[in-house]
Amino acid sequence: RAKQRGRNRIAVFSRSMQDKAQLTIHFENQFRRSLRNGDFFLVFQPQYALTPQPELIGFETLVRWNHPERGIVSPAEFVPMAETTGLILHLDRYVLREACRIWGEMRASLPACRALHFSVNLSASHMDRPTFIRKLEKTLAAFEMPHESIILELTESALMSNPETAARKMQYLRSIGLHVALDDFGTGYSSLAYLTRFPCYCLKIDKSFVDNITTDENSVRVVRAIIHLAHGLGMVALAEGVETPEQLAQLQDMGCDQVQGYLLGKPMPQAALRDVIARNC
Ligand code: C2E
Ligand code: MG
Ligand code: MG
Ligand code: MG
Repeated sequence: RAKQRGRNRIAVFSRSMQDKAQLTIHFENQFRRSLRNGDFFLVFQPQYALTPQPELIGFETLVRWNHPERGIVSPAEFVPMAETTGLILHLDRYVLREACRIWGEMRASLPACRALHFSVNLSASHMDRPTFIRKLEKTLAAFEMPHESIILELTESALMSNPETAARKMQYLRSIGLHVALDDFGTGYSSLAYLTRFPCYCLKIDKSFVDNITTDENSVRVVRAIIHLAHGLGMVALAEGVETPEQLAQLQDMGCDQVQGYLLGKPMPQAALRDVIARNC
């Protein structure tokens, strides 16, 4: 009887393994189909310099999936699975091309755009690909995108899995005038020693710290330390997820260079960009 139960248990286990495999296959098929059909689209969240009043400097590109069965799905839901299946590489390439296309259009018809940058998020897995930089340069050249107009957002984990290679690639990116921002800074396993060898333009202070700066003394200390660290290494500090005027005032007070968040602007569709740029530039 026990044996039977054991066998059932194994059966249940392998059934769920099979379900999981099937789910993954279903996800992959749908994801590929959606890439072909143009179901992914971009939204843009404004980024501001604190001078000390907020001044529009650019936009972060964020992807959305208009899923044929589930409607709009946020990247928090599908990026993890896209990472494990490797499909994130295809998605990021699509996002980069699409962002270049849209900004090319905007710059042609709205000269004020030329002073603005746009950033794109790149998965950590690009760093391990030998063709990453070549493909990136090729895309930027194909769209005649000036390198100073784009910022690559990478997370710390992108750099830490193979810090030697990452440092070399980061140096090359800098040498061709491309800026890198370290996203979600403070939440990964960054080694401060390596930080000195990654030529970054910006540290993005994670929202989880910003959330608490008006209530928690320790969060204030951490944010202040990150800002000092950035400045000490010749980088700028950008605080993400700013939602209240109190947080903004506090960040201005601390000497934070840049901010983004719902308080100043939510991610918006391409159609809304023109208005925001016209109003701010
Ligand atoms: P992230 O790059 O750290 O982006 C910030 C996330 O916080 C975005 O969520 C943004 O919409 C949200 N956010 C911004 N301001 C506020 C605020 O004031 N309050 C709150 N509650 N949220 C705010 P989103 O668009 O869902 O993206 C989630 C993550 O997915 C991004 O985190 C990024 O890591 C990843 N992601 C987005 N687009 C891409 C992409 O094209 N490629 C890759 N590889 N990853 C992407
Ligand atoms: Mg980002
Ligand atoms: Mg971030
Ligand atoms: Mg974040």
